[in-house]
Amino acid sequence: MKPAAWICLSLGLIFTQHAAADTASTPILVGNTDNQIALLPAASVPQVLRLAGSGGTTWQGMDAETFVGSATIDGVAVALHWRFDPGASRIRSDSVSLAYADRSTGLRLYWEWRATARHGPIEHVIRIENPGRHEVWIPLQDSFRFAWKVAADQPLEQLWIDKGAGEAPPVGTHLVPVSEGYRWHGASSTFAHPAAGEPREIIPYFLVRDEGSTHRGWYVGVEFSGRIAMALKRHGDVLEGVAGLDPEPGPFRTRLAPGATFSTPTVFVGASDGDVDTTGNTLRRWVREVLNDPAILRDPAYPTVTVNSWGSAMAITDAQARHMIDDARRLGFEMFHLDAGWFRAVGDWYPDPRKFPHGIAAISDYAHSRGLKFGLWTDWAQAGTSAQRGALNVADPHVRDWLTTDPPAGWQPAEFKGITIDLGAPAAQAWATREVDRIVRDYHVDMLEHDGYVVAQGCARADHPHAPADPAGTRRYSDDDFLWVDSSNSTDVSLHATQAYYEIQAGLRRAHPGLMLEICNDGGRMVDFGSAAHGDYFSIVDAYDPLSNRQAFYDASHVLPPAMLEAYVKAWPTPHIENFRYMLRSGMMGWLTVMIDSNSWSPQQHAAAAREIAFYKSTLRPLIRDADLYHVGPRPDGKGWDGLEYFDAGRDRGVLYAFHGSAATPGGFRFNLRGLRGNRRYRLHFRDHSSPDREASGRELMQAGLVVALPMADSSELVTIEALR
Ligand SMILES: [Zn+2]
Repeated sequence: MKPAAWICLSLGLIFTQHAAADTASTPILVGNTDNQIALLPAASVPQVLRLAGSGGTTWQGMDAETFVGSATIDGVAVALHWRFDPGASRIRSDSVSLAYADRSTGLRLYWEWRATARHGPIEHVIRIENPGRHEVWIPLQDSFRFAWKVAADQPLEQLWIDKGAGEAPPVGTHLVPVSEGYRWHGASSTFAHPAAGEPREIIPYFLVRDEGSTHRGWYVGVEFSGRIAMALKRHGDVLEGVAGLDPEPGPFRTRLAPGATFSTPTVFVGASDGDVDTTGNTLRRWVREVLNDPAILRDPAYPTVTVNSWGSAMAITDAQARHMIDDARRLGFEMFHLDAGWFRAVGDWYPDPRKFPHGIAAISDYAHSRGLKFGLWTDWAQAGTSAQRGALNVADPHVRDWLTTDPPAGWQPAEFKGITIDLGAPAAQAWATREVDRIVRDYHVDMLEHDGYVVAQGCARADHPHAPADPAGTRRYSDDDFLWVDSSNSTDVSLHATQAYYEIQAGLRRAHPGLMLEICNDGGRMVDFGSAAHGDYFSIVDAYDPLSNRQAFYDASHVLPPAMLEAYVKAWPTPHIENFRYMLRSGMMGWLTVMIDSNSWSPQQHAAAAREIAFYKSTLRPLIRDADLYHVGPRPDGKGWDGLEYFDAGRDRGVLYAFHGSAATPGGFRFNLRGLRGNRRYRLHFRDHSSPDREASGRELMQAGLVVALPMADSSELVTIEALR
C-alpha cells in the first residue's frame, strides 16, 4: 500500500464531491507504517470505516460517530446540527482534521486523527470551539465510540491492567474471553482508592484480540489522568464500546467561555498482530517516543539508581541524611531522595528547623558534592493549618476559596496529608506554579516527587471554572486521611484540575530542563498515559515487599515503559545473602529506589549491593531503557517461580530475571525465551553460578527453554544471554 498516493487521490475526490453534492463518499486514509484508519467525512457526522494493521488485521466500523446534540446558551437548550465544512478541514497522510460547524450557535467541531510517530498507534481527539460571544454549556462528548463488525462465532478475549494503587491487586493482569452478551466497564481517576470487593481502577487501556491462533486484535488507551471510563460489549456481530471522560456521576456538563475550546481526552488506537508482548513492545516504544520527555531519556543515567529516606519515615534528620549520602556514594547510588519528614507542616513547604537546621539546599549541595543527584518529596497541592509565612493555610480566606470543600469544625491535617486545593481555580494554579518553582530553585532539586491527592476529582465550590455541584446529590466523606467530594460535577472538576496540573508540570520542565518528575500519589494511584506525558516515572504500588514490587511491575509493564516503573525496596527479612539479592532484584526490573538506610547493612550485604548496583548500571539498565520485554514466567504469587526477559534484537543480547518464591521445592523452572534468532548460538552466563555457563541455539532456548534451578526459598538468578559472534 502507498498511503501518500492514496491520500492525494482521496483529497481530490472529496473536495470535488463536496463542491458538487455536499456529501463525501470517498474514504480518507490516515496513518503510519503500522496502522491505517479509513475515515468517511459524511455531511453531518463522520465515520471510521476501518482500522487496518500492517500485518493484515482489519476491523470494520459499523456506525457513524456521535457528536453532542445540544448546547445550552443563556439557560436555553439549543439543538445542534453539525455540517461538514470542507474548507476548514485539513487532510494529510499523517494527520486529518475534519471540521464541522453548527450554524445556530456558531460552535465549531474538529474531528482529528494523527500519526505522531512512524510506528505505533494513531491518536484521536475531538475539539469543540466557541468562537461566539456567549457562554455555552455542552454535555459529554466521548473521546471515541466504536462498533466493529465481528463474526458471531469469532473467539475473542480482552486484556486490561489494574493500577497497583495501594496494595498490589489480586489479579492485576486480566485476560478474559469476550463471548456473546459480554459487558465490561473500566474506570480511572487522578487518585484510585480501591474499596474491598469492588473492581480496581485500571490503567486506561484495553486490548481485544482473537483468542485463536492469529491473535489479531486492536487496542485503545486514553492519555488523560482525570476521571475516565471505558466500556466494551459484544452482542451478535457487533463489538462496541466507548472511551473518554467518565459520565458518572452525572449528568456531565462543561462550560465553554467565549473563545474557549473543549478537547476530549486524547485516545490512541492501534491494530495488533502477534501476542500480548509483541503488542506491548510496540506500545512501550511508542510511549517513549511520543509521550516521554526526550531531555530525560537522553540522559544515560535514566532510570537513576536511587536511595530514599522513607525507611526512617518522618524521623529523617540532617545528620542521618548526610550519613545515608556518604554510604550511597560508596555503593554506587546516583540520587539521594529526601522523602516526607523534612518540612515544617503540611502545606508549609519550608525546612523543619529542628530536623534540618541548615536547610534543604545544604543537603542537596552535600549530595551534589558526593556526586549524587538530589530528589525531594512534596505534596504541593495540600493545604494545612500552619500560620507561618508562605504556608498554605486553610484559615486564610483566599486559600479557603481554593479548597475542594470546607474543613469540618476542628479539622487537623494528618502528618503529611491535608486538604486538596482545586488547581482548576486559576488563583490556586498560579500559587502552585510559583510554589513548585520556588521549591525546585531554593532547594536545588534535581527530581521533584509529588505525592498524595494532588489533582481534585470532586469539588463543592460554585465559583470555580468547572460546573457547580448539585447540592442535593453531593457526598462528602473522609478516606485515606483525605476529604473527598462526589457530585454531578466531579468529572468536570477533574477535567479542569488535570489540565491545570499538566500546565504546572510542563511549566516546571520549561523552567528547569532536565528536572525529573516523579508521580507517586500514595503509590500507584495515578498511573496512566496522561501522567506518562507529564512525568518521568511512577511509583507503581504502595506496598514495598519483593512480591508486591514484582506483581505491580508484572502488571504495569504490559503497557508502560519499564524505565518509568519504580519499585520502592523496603527492609525485609534477609537471613541469607540470596534473600538479600532477591529483595534487591525484585526492584531492579525497572526504576530502582531503595528505601533503606544502607548503613544498617552488614559488610556482606554492602558488598552484594555494590555489585548488584554496578551490574544494574552496566548491563540491566541499557536493556530496561531500550530492549523488548517478555513476560516469560507466570504472574508472581510469592510461592512458585516467576521471571521476565529483556532482549535487545539490535545488540543481540538480553537477560532473564528468574525468581523462586517461598515454596522451597527442589527442581527447576523452564523459561521459554523470546525474541532470539533461531539459527544463532548464544552464550548463557548464570550470574550467581546456579548453573555452569553454557552455549545454546536460539531455537533450543525458545522451544525447549532455559531451565533455572534454585534450591533456596526466596532466591533469584540473573542469566545474561549474548549472541556468539
Ligand atoms: Zn473546584
